[in-house]
Amino acid sequence: MNSIVERLKEVRQQIESACNQHNRRPESVQLLAVSKTKPASAIRELYEVGQRHFGENYLQEALEKQQQLTDLDALVWHFIGPIQSNKTRDIAAHFAWVQSVDRSKIIRRLNEQRPAELPPLQVLIQVNIDDEQSKSGVAPDEVAALAAEIAAADRLTLRGLMTIPAAHASEAQQQQSFNAMQRLFSALSSQYESVDTLSMGMSQDITAAIGAGSTMVRVGTALFGARASKKE
Ligand SMILES: *Cc1c(COP(=O)(O)O)cnc(C)c1O
Repeated sequence: MNSIVERLKEVRQQIESACNQHNRRPESVQLLAVSKTKPASAIRELYEVGQRHFGENYLQEALEKQQQLTDLDALVWHFIGPIQSNKTRDIAAHFAWVQSVDRSKIIRRLNEQRPAELPPLQVLIQVNIDDEQSKSGVAPDEVAALAAEIAAADRLTLRGLMTIPAAHASEAQQQQSFNAMQRLFSALSSQYESVDTLSMGMSQDITAAIGAGSTMVRVGTALFGARASKKE
């Protein structure tokens, strides 16, 4: 079985070859290691070989791991799970990025609750590109209004968009969703100078997402191995 460090090397190689294939610089794609359900020790192992950005979905679980990793000064935490409004205070205080913002109430609360001594919270709007009932995220035509609210909030910085496309789409449908995201992102980045991040692509579709212009892939399984099904 591969070690976690070998898997990181493989994922990095996959990103690099996808970039080469599409005439993109490898540095133009960030790797977010999605560590939900995985122990702090696994995060530490990847940090020690240079991985810096980590994503968590469950607040309580994330806070517990953060407690065990306070010595890792350069670790950048991203919150990527659905946001309940009673969780915003902890999210605002304990994360550098939030990728799953999808309504005004959450924007207001994060802005009010971001501690003054920290830099602004880096925010992505989650887009439900395949209009799935089960998924959080806004419809494409709601992005502009939320973007304006985030851009006007002084404790938040609008960085771009995040999406989780439908799981069972065909390759052609998946490509369509990726392309639709790329168009939305492109329009947003021409309107806001701070927008530079399209968070799109997971273990199964890293290469296709990079082909469609993703600037950040969120990878769990391909790095850490399969998760126990309970928390999927
Ligand atoms: C779990 C999760 C991922 C990682 O998915 P894998 O298929 O394990 O790579 C990426 N993004 C979000 C929002 C997730 O919840």
